[in-house]
Amino acid sequence: MLSGEDIWCQLFSEPGAGSDLAGVSTRATKDGDHYIVNGQKTWTSLGHVAKYGILLCRTNPDAPKHAGLSYFIIDMRSPGIEIQPIVEMTGMHMFNNVFFTDVRVPAENLIGDENRGWELARETLANERVTLARAGAQWGWGPTAADLIALVRERGGAPDAITRQRLAQVYIEGEILRVYRLRMVAARVSGKLGPESSVAKALSDPHGQHIFRLARDLSGAEGLLKEVGPLGADPTWWANGFVFSPALTIGGGTSEVLKNIIGERILGLPREPEPDAGRSWAETRRN
Ligand SMILES: Cc1cc2nc3c(=O)[nH]c(=O)nc-3n(C[C@H](O)[C@H](O)[C@H](O)COP(=O)(O)OP(=O)(O)OC[C@H]3O[C@@H](n4cnc5c(N)ncnc54)[C@H](O)[C@@H]3O)c2cc1C
Repeated sequence: MLSGEDIWCQLFSEPGAGSDLAGVSTRATKDGDHYIVNGQKTWTSLGHVAKYGILLCRTNPDAPKHAGLSYFIIDMRSPGIEIQPIVEMTGMHMFNNVFFTDVRVPAENLIGDENRGWELARETLANERVTLARAGAQWGWGPTAADLIALVRERGGAPDAITRQRLAQVYIEGEILRVYRLRMVAARVSGKLGPESSVAKALSDPHGQHIFRLARDLSGAEGLLKEVGPLGADPTWWANGFVFSPALTIGGGTSEVLKNIIGERILGLPREPEPDAGRSWAETRRN
């Protein structure tokens, strides 16, 4: 897994459970030394090429929603898994719908204790946010603010005052993020990384959008019609990155959800109202 030889996917989101991830309804029912899985996941990146997936399922519908979830590893070649592609507006196929019909998962593939999956899912998402907040503008991949600034310098400087202001702005954001990432590394090394990764991602996603929007504006009128890079640069990364960039503030936790986490867990503000508090998942209102 660490070497990247085996591709894995994350089977968390469902049509009725994205930001409200604890509301997932895909069921895993114990049957001897297996669990039987039925339900649907969506937006599963790389599900069509993944060998294994991490799967969040409901194992106890009669417990409160956070307390009835379990976390499994699933072999994506198991009988009963059907994968349907979703083609994105970039023209690429990364996402999938994944359907489970009586899929048998060995009980030994349960990670941690049954019904304690929520803690593991939260830990997974916190670590994912660290990765998504690396320096490249597209969730850690692709060009950085420094790359765009170098390109503008190389090709004759910023053409006008507004562009200079915007370049300075992405530089400032990039520097704040660079320092913040060092703080996260220090927190991880000392075993104290908590909700800080939400701050990093909440800063990093709009930063990526600012970089790609500025690059698109530097592509001129031609950039509206076809794939060209800023100031005539090679379009690789830039054109696709711009079309992908609205997704930055959605996947891995939307900006609004990240701000809720920051408000509650870092600033100590009151929690969001929970109309379903005290009810079991089976009794909650669902999409
Ligand atoms: C590029 C990309 C890759 C992805 N890959 C995967 C993957 O591999 N595996 C996987 O499981 N999922 C994946 N996802 C799904 C992603 O996790 C969800 O899209 C995300 O959690 C948001 O859920 P949703 O789309 O259901 O939106 P919703 O939760 O329906 O949100 C809709 C809107 O309501 C707002 N909102 C919702 N709740 C609140 C609240 N409490 N307070 C304020 N505002 C709120 C949101 O911010 C958003 O603007 C991916 C998404 C993207 C864009």
